[in-house]
Amino acid sequence: MATNRTRRLAWLAGGISLAAILGGLYLARGEIALALTSRGADKAMGANLTQDLPDGLHAAVCGSGSPLADTSRAGPCLAVVAGQRVFVVDAGEGSAEVLNRMGLSPGLVKAVFLTHFHSDHIDGLGALAMQRWVSGAAHAPLPLHGPPGVESIAAGFNEAYRQDSTYRVAHHGAKTVPPEGFGLSAQPFAQPGPDGKVVFEDGGVKVTAFAVDHSPVHPALGYRFDYKGRSLVISGDTAKNPAVERNARGADLLVHEALSPRLIAILERAAQRADRPNVAKLMADIPDYHATPQEAAQTAQAAKVGALMLTHIVPPLRMRALEGPFLGDSRRRFDGPLWIARDGDVVSLPAGGKDIDLKR
Ligand SMILES: [Zn+2]
Ligand SMILES: [Zn+2]
Repeated sequence: MATNRTRRLAWLAGGISLAAILGGLYLARGEIALALTSRGADKAMGANLTQDLPDGLHAAVCGSGSPLADTSRAGPCLAVVAGQRVFVVDAGEGSAEVLNRMGLSPGLVKAVFLTHFHSDHIDGLGALAMQRWVSGAAHAPLPLHGPPGVESIAAGFNEAYRQDSTYRVAHHGAKTVPPEGFGLSAQPFAQPGPDGKVVFEDGGVKVTAFAVDHSPVHPALGYRFDYKGRSLVISGDTAKNPAVERNARGADLLVHEALSPRLIAILERAAQRADRPNVAKLMADIPDYHATPQEAAQTAQAAKVGALMLTHIVPPLRMRALEGPFLGDSRRRFDGPLWIARDGDVVSLPAGGKDIDLKR
């Protein structure tokens, strides 16, 4: 029969061995982290989302945010994968990093299209062009398509990054980073009207640009991508506008910007209470050149699109429970699937069918 003393000793021994195991694990945690990092690096280095997707048209959300800081969303960016080719519409801050995390290395990007020149839509361009050059050993600058004015955007980024480009070539060599592949090359097209104009056509991919209403911002465009019978439309930044409906007619997917006036009004009142009148004025000004989720849903319904994904989310939704107030009664205004985009979402429209698959 065990005495109290022997039970105490056994308990102590058990405690010591558990402590020894935990201590050992604590000491080994660095090694465990290194092993996990090595496994993760293998996976990340070998990732190529385009090889996992079926032939068709795909929308990959590389940034669902806006100029209002949001740690869960990069700035505006949508990657459009058509077959094996990757196009990017707008490149907001942080979007190149999201592309990398999604298995879409910037080295894969064939061209960028800009909807307009607001800072939040272009402030990730420098990182995107630089990463595309150095990781893809590009032999030509990244084509930057857009309306008139796109030339000065490309020239400005090229100027800002030119000194860095010389360091990269000196350090890694011209074979690894071919000097002729540095930077952006502007591909301006004439300003399209609201009816739309084809601005790019190659290998079965057709891109149509159309004017939207983001006044006083001119030019401001939306884009429609068509490939193998599937189609998706990006509204760009716009107030509710019939051009979006017209160009989205019958499209499989509409990616529409959205702002909640109700939530913005909360920020405006907070700015007033904090005696920050200029911030209050900004908050009062922005609703008039954006669309509400309800308006986006009405446009989707009128255009009879297959699905509606809301992006360029204003203001940031600090908790998931705010999605309800953000959407209001939008779901009642559109018969199809509707959701708020998250960075990393991939919507697939496989060729030769009608499927709309969301992976997040
Ligand atoms: Zn914007
Ligand atoms: Zn804008």
